[in-house]
Amino acid sequence: MHPDSTLRVAIDAVAAAGRVARTVQRDFNRNHQIIKDDQSPVTVADFAVQAIVAMALKDAFGDVPIVGEERAGVLRLPEQAEVRRAVVEAVDRYRTGVRDDDVLGAIDGCNHDASAEAYWTLDPIDGTKGFLRGQQYAIALALIEAGRVVLGVLGCPNLPLQTDHPFDHPGPHGTIYAARVGCGTGQWPDHESKGQEVPVRARSHAPGALTVCESVEAAHSRNDHSRRVLQRVAQDLGLAIDYARLDSQCKYAVVARGQADAYLRMPTHKSYVEKIWDHAAGMMIAEEAGAVVSDIAGARLDFTHGQRLEANRGIVCASGHIHGMIIDAIRDLDLASAPQ
Ligand code: AMP
Ligand code: MG
Repeated sequence: MHPDSTLRVAIDAVAAAGRVARTVQRDFNRNHQIIKDDQSPVTVADFAVQAIVAMALKDAFGDVPIVGEERAGVLRLPEQAEVRRAVVEAVDRYRTGVRDDDVLGAIDGCNHDASAEAYWTLDPIDGTKGFLRGQQYAIALALIEAGRVVLGVLGCPNLPLQTDHPFDHPGPHGTIYAARVGCGTGQWPDHESKGQEVPVRARSHAPGALTVCESVEAAHSRNDHSRRVLQRVAQDLGLAIDYARLDSQCKYAVVARGQADAYLRMPTHKSYVEKIWDHAAGMMIAEEAGAVVSDIAGARLDFTHGQRLEANRGIVCASGHIHGMIIDAIRDLDLASAPQ
C-alpha cells in the first residue's frame, strides 16, 4: 500500500499531532483537565491535536468538512484561561507564532454534522482515560465518502512496534497505521513515518491461546458478557484465552497486526450509541489487514446515519472464522440486544 497524496497528508498530520501529544502527556499537569457535560475528561492534548490536524488538512485541502469530537467553547471561559494558554503553547510546537484565535478557530472548524458527500472524522485523543493514566491512546482520522470509510490513519504514540512489549509500559516510540480501501494496511514507527511502511496482516489462527482485546474502562463495555461469549468460542476451539486490556482504537491495530485474534465491545446500555470517530479509522485499519468488523449482530458498521452509528450496537472485530464463531455465540447466548 503506497500512500497516495491524500493519505500522505493524513499520515503527516497524525504524526505531527502525535509528537505534540507525547510531549503533553510527558509534562501532564492535572490542573489542565476539564470535565465535559457528559462527565468525560478532556485534556490539553485533545484540544491541541484537534487544532493541529485541522490546520494540516486545511493547508492541504482548504476548508474541508471535519467531524471532530471536541469544541473550543469551554476554552473561551475566563476560568479556563490557563488551559487555553497550555493548548496554544502545545500547538505552537507545531506552528510557531500561532495565536489564540487561530487555535480556537481550528478546533471549532471541526463541527461538521456528517451530512456532506465527503468529510473527515477525527477523534483527537481516543482513550483520554488511558492518556491520563500514562497508557495507550490513539489519534484517529478517517475520510468518509458517500457513507463509506475510504481511508483511515491511526496514530498510536504509546504502542511500540515490538509485539512482545507489555501494553501498560509504553515504549520510547509509537506506531502509525494507515489504510486505504482495497489497498491493505501499512505500519510505520512514528518517528519514521516518511519511510517505507511494513504491511500488516491479521492472523488466521490463534497460536495456543485466543488473545482478545477489551477496554480497560468497565463503563465502556460489558466485559462480563464478552467473557461468556469468548469462553464458549475458546471451548469450541480447544484453546485457552488471554485478555489484553488497553484503551482506545489501538485495539483495532493490535488485531490488524496479528498480535490478537479479536476485539469485542459489548453494549453497556440501550441508550449508548457508538460515535463514528470512535470506529471509522480503526475499522479501516483492521479490515484492510484482513480482519472482519461488524456490530454484535454481525451487520457491517453503517456510516450513513450522521455522527453516530445509529443502526449498530457494539463491535466485533476478529479474523474470519473466529468472527463468525463470536457472532454465533452472542446469538446463542441471547446477548445480541443491548441491556436496558
Ligand atoms: P475504550 O478506550 O475502548 O474504552 O473506548 C473509549 C471510548 O469509549 C471513548 O472515546 C468514548 O467515546 C467511548 N464511551 C464512553 N462511554 C461509553 C459507553 N457507555 N459505552 C461504550 N463506549 C463508551
Ligand atoms: Mg474516543
